[in-house]
Amino acid sequence: MYFIAGVDIGGTAIKVGIFKSSDLELLSTFSIETPKKDPQGLDIFEDIIKGLKTHFSELNFEFKDLIGISLAVPCPVVEGYVTLAANLPWKNINVVNEMKKRLSNENILVCAINDANAAVMGENFLLDTPAKNLVFFTLGTSIGGGIIVNSQLLEGVHGYSGEFAHMIVDYRDKKVCGCGQKGCLEHKCSTAAVLEYAKELVEIKKMPSILDFKNLTVRGIFDNVSIDKVSKKVFDRYCKYLAICAANIALIIDPEIFIIGGGISHAGDPLIKNIKKYYNKYARFNSKSIPFVLAKRRNQAGIFGTVCYLKQFLG
Ligand SMILES: [Zn+2]
Repeated sequence: MYFIAGVDIGGTAIKVGIFKSSDLELLSTFSIETPKKDPQGLDIFEDIIKGLKTHFSELNFEFKDLIGISLAVPCPVVEGYVTLAANLPWKNINVVNEMKKRLSNENILVCAINDANAAVMGENFLLDTPAKNLVFFTLGTSIGGGIIVNSQLLEGVHGYSGEFAHMIVDYRDKKVCGCGQKGCLEHKCSTAAVLEYAKELVEIKKMPSILDFKNLTVRGIFDNVSIDKVSKKVFDRYCKYLAICAANIALIIDPEIFIIGGGISHAGDPLIKNIKKYYNKYARFNSKSIPFVLAKRRNQAGIFGTVCYLKQFLG
């Protein structure tokens, strides 16, 4: 039996899944803290290999039977090359080469994929019937995502296909985004934007609210939608702009399905229903019939997707 490892590298933790290479059955998982000692972030590769070797020996697996390692990284990546990573110290580094350098077995295939793209492949793999065309949103601190067209992941020439946060959804918006533009989805649906809007409603528009502004979270707001008018207004604006983005994407991709994942998708069915309500308002032609569903494996989609990506190269 041969194995492949899916490694999802985040700013605080690295999640690893060991899969059977033949059918991508998940055999075991472990996670390690993301090391932070090396200012260049090269200790990340060393700790992953160390963790893999320890885990293999605990499972009585032979490390020589590991034939592939696929890295999901939290930044754009093109053929292993990362220019800059927001939550890691990597700068102008080829993560595939750095990993390979540290492996004694040169036959291990190493590849790297953006983590949101890995998640879209993982979620598609986990559908009862994988879709040929789908759009995946990750709703978290910012808005990310991924696109599959004709059963192929759309990575784009520069690696930022699916960066939905910077789609312009309100050209009248005066605030300048980190990307240099105005009116980005980021300024309506990022965690910072949501919290700021809630504050604005209470402090400037003087709307009464039961929200605790000392410990305010997006989840805290979305949990109070049925009993608090400010929460309802914030929730509606969030769903509306996300729906505008989805309706625009539908005109380009015409997908079979939209999948909603990321931490904020914990808001569950009410979130899906409200996005769909606004989506139906903005969608045109037959795109109104495209369903929205919640992601199935929010925590493991990355490791599943990254091995799906590697599997293409194994033949
Ligand atoms: Zn932007």
